[in-house]
Formats: sequence, structure tokens, C-alpha cells
Amino acid sequence: MTAEPRIDAGEEARDAAARDRSGWAGSARPAGVVQATSVDDVRRTLAWADETGTPVVTRGAGSGLAAAAVGVAGAVVLDVSGIDRILEIDPVEQLARVEPGVITASLDAAAAAHGLMYAPDPGSVGISTIGGNIATNAGGLRGAKYGVTRDHVLALDVVLADGSLVRVGRETLKGVTGYDLVGLFTGSEGTLGVVVGATLRLVPRPVRTATATAFLPSAAAAAGATAAIAGSGARPAVLEIIDGPTLEAIDALDGSALAARGGACLVVQTDGFGADEELALVAATLRSLGADVRVAATPEEAESLLAARRRALPALEARGRVLIEDIAVPRGRLAHAIERIHAIADEERVDVYVFGHAGDGNLHPIIVTPPAGPSDPMPAEAQAAADRIFALAIELGGTITAEHGVGRLKRAWAERELGPEVHALQTRIRALLDPRGILNPGSSV
Ligand SMILES: Cc1cc2nc3c(=O)[nH]c(=O)nc-3n(C[C@H](O)[C@H](O)[C@H](O)COP(=O)(O)OP(=O)(O)OC[C@H]3O[C@@H](n4cnc5c(N)ncnc54)[C@H](O)[C@@H]3O)c2cc1C
Repeated sequence: MTAEPRIDAGEEARDAAARDRSGWAGSARPAGVVQATSVDDVRRTLAWADETGTPVVTRGAGSGLAAAAVGVAGAVVLDVSGIDRILEIDPVEQLARVEPGVITASLDAAAAAHGLMYAPDPGSVGISTIGGNIATNAGGLRGAKYGVTRDHVLALDVVLADGSLVRVGRETLKGVTGYDLVGLFTGSEGTLGVVVGATLRLVPRPVRTATATAFLPSAAAAAGATAAIAGSGARPAVLEIIDGPTLEAIDALDGSALAARGGACLVVQTDGFGADEELALVAATLRSLGADVRVAATPEEAESLLAARRRALPALEARGRVLIEDIAVPRGRLAHAIERIHAIADEERVDVYVFGHAGDGNLHPIIVTPPAGPSDPMPAEAQAAADRIFALAIELGGTITAEHGVGRLKRAWAERELGPEVHALQTRIRALLDPRGILNPGSSV
């Protein structure tokens, strides 16, 4: 019998582990928290949990937006944020070997010292962990050009539900022996195993970036303009959309005056040797559509534009309780999706703010309701609006969650999106890897 791990059952630890950034909390707090500082801690905790049938909720920084890392009644939260060393940056192979608790921005900074870049950059880049990014297959601002976390994971060390340790994937850029288990574990939201190590692909750090904002009369017009950018042959690294109400919220937080410049804004960044030329093409395309385009004169100005975009969510959190959605639709349908979302908001009489990664068709419609306790039920009209937005995403050939994950918040809709056969197949895979059902029960598919 494996000895019980050291579990912190103090009020403070249990309170902190009972929520993430989704704002949702269960009706009861978890039994306690294990602060793992080594792979052995993780292995012993899972071996003990498997033997005793104790539910385990793995947790990184708790910045998730799907209530997937939330410790629920009876569960032990396994906090792996303390296993956080960057073991190696290999400039020749252009890869990094890291532990799961490394903060995303720290890895990128370490890569920068070698002229390299860790490309995935979620809005939470300064607080989220690499383990959490892998478990959610996080996207980010640079996704329009560089893709999502999965595109940068070469190999993983994973502790399985019974405490055994496996290594999947490989460190070569190519390799197809066996099934793609890296792909299976990436995005599995702590339900198939605990990531305790990762080999990640780095890319050459762009020699230049060029950044601009473009203001258009409406969010639908801005979304339509993204299709024109795609058609121009340009491929921006960043192509973000922020609607007018969200601009007002950012202004209120920052003291800026963005909303006065137009009904919606695109933030565009190109990178690489031809960055200026590529941005000029984007700017000409946008101006031909009547946009008010301003190119950032300095890197500091460019950074402040991106920082304003990163503050969209905190700006809305300051306005009330948020229900954060995360749909993606084919890019050609973005403008239509935004028009329909605004119509849904009007019909359900709720405030819906929209921003997101327009370059990869990913919108974050945020429903803001009056402040309330985390375990108070969402107002019925907010839930109704969210359900209609999910239905819209599926109707338009998209997805209910592009990057935040299913978690505890979107389970019913995940089943609808996947369909009964694929959902049943996923349930069987989960049962195969976690036969006693201890890994994050009640969350994900
Ligand atoms: C302001 C803000 C902006 C954001 N912007 C983005 C964005 O642009 N793109 C995006 O994708 N997300 C974004 N997010 C959401 C969030 O930051 C990401 O989902 C992130 O990947 C979560 O990382 P974390 O370390 O906080 O994980 P947690 O929230 O702690 O956990 C998330 C999930 O991962 C699992 N998990 C964590 N670590 C491990 C591990 N080592 N092994 C196995 N499972 C594990 C947990 O069980 C849970 O299911 C944003 C959040 C905020 C607050």
C-alpha cells in the first residue's frame, strides 16, 4: 500500500484550489492540496489515489477558464506548479526541455536569450504554466501564424493514473512510429495523466515585428476585413479583434481613449524579414475598406497595443460576473457569427462583449452579469444566451471551445458537438487510461 501523500487540508489552500479564473466554484471545497515538488511526489500521489479511489484534480496556475482545475468535494488537488525548472534550451535542435510548472513567458524569455521563440502565447502568458497550456492545448495571440500548443510539443513525460511514468513522442522533428500519443495527451485536461515533463519545439525569433491598429465602424465590418486580409496573401502573426463595448471597458481600466476611434478594432502584427512590407499590404487592404489604420512607430507602442488586448478579459471582469465563451467558426463566417451573437444578446437582454483571435476564427463572447457569488447560479437569460451561442457555433460548422477546454462548464455541449459515437469512443479511451476514474472526474468529455 502506498503511503498517503502530504495533504494540506488548511482553509487557505482548499479555498484557493476551489476556483479558477472562470469564476465558477462547486458547492463544496476539495479535501486538500498536495504541493508536488518532484516527479516522485506526483507518482506517489497518483499511486495512492488509485489504490484508495480518491479523485485527483491536477492544477497548474489555475488560470483556466473552464473550471477544469477546480478542486471539487472529496478531491485532492495535485498542484504541480512547483515543479518548474527549465532543464535545457538546445539552440542547435531548436527545442526546450522543461518541467510542467514553468511559466509560459519565462520559457519564451529563456528562448530569446538564444535568438529563439516559444511561439504559443495565450493572453495569460505571464501567469499560465506550460503543463496547463499542454493540458488545454492553449492557443494565443500568435496562433494566426504559429498555431496552437500542440504544434510545438515534441515529447511528453506523463504519469498515468496508477503512478507509472511513460514517455511519449520523440525529439526529432519528424517521426511516425506508433499512434500520436502526444496529440492524445495534449488537450486532455488532466483526465488521461499528469504531464511532468515536455520537450517543446522553438522557432527562430523574428528579426522584426511591425504592428498596427485598424478601427472600423462595427465588429462585423472588422471581422469581414479579416477575410480580406487572408485574401491579400498576407499572413499576420497576430490578428486580434476587439468590439466597441470591450474597447470601452479597456478604456475604463486603462484611462485610454480607444473606443472614440471606431466601433471595433483589429490589432495586427506581422513578423520576420518582410514584416514592414507585409504590414504595408495589410494596411492598404484595410484602408481600401475604409479603416482608420495606424502603424506603431516604436516597439514600445506596439507592445502597449498588444498589452491593451491582453487586458480585455480583466477589463470585463471588473464590470461584473463573467461567463466566458470560446467558440471558433470558419474564418469566412466570422462576420455573420458576430452579427448573430449581437442579435442573441439583444433578444436575451444580456450584455455580451466580443473579442478574440480573429486570425484563427476564434471569438470570445463574454456575457457579463451583475456581481454574484461564484457558486450562485448563472442568471437564466445568461445561460440561455450561452446555449444559443454554442448552437450557433455548431450550426456554422465551428466548435464550442477553440482553446479553453470543456472542463466542468461545457460537458453537455461537448457531447452535442462530438456526436454519440465519437463521444462514446472518447469515454472508452478515458476508461482505458484511468480505469478507476480518479482523474478529474466530472470534468471534460
Ligand atoms: C487573462 C486571461 C487570458 C487568457 N488567454 C488565453 C488565451 O489567449 N488562450 C488560451 O488558450 N487560454 C487563455 N486563457 C486560459 C488559461 O490561461 C489557459 O487555459 C492555460 O493553458 C491554463 O494554464 P494553467 O497553468 O493556469 O492551468 P490550470 O488552470 O491550472 O489547469 C487547466 C487544465 O489543465 C490541467 N493541468 C494543469 N497542469 C497539468 C499537468 N501538468 N498535467 C496534466 N494536466 C494539467 C488541469 O487539470 C485543468 O484541466 C486565459 C486566461 C486568462 C485569465
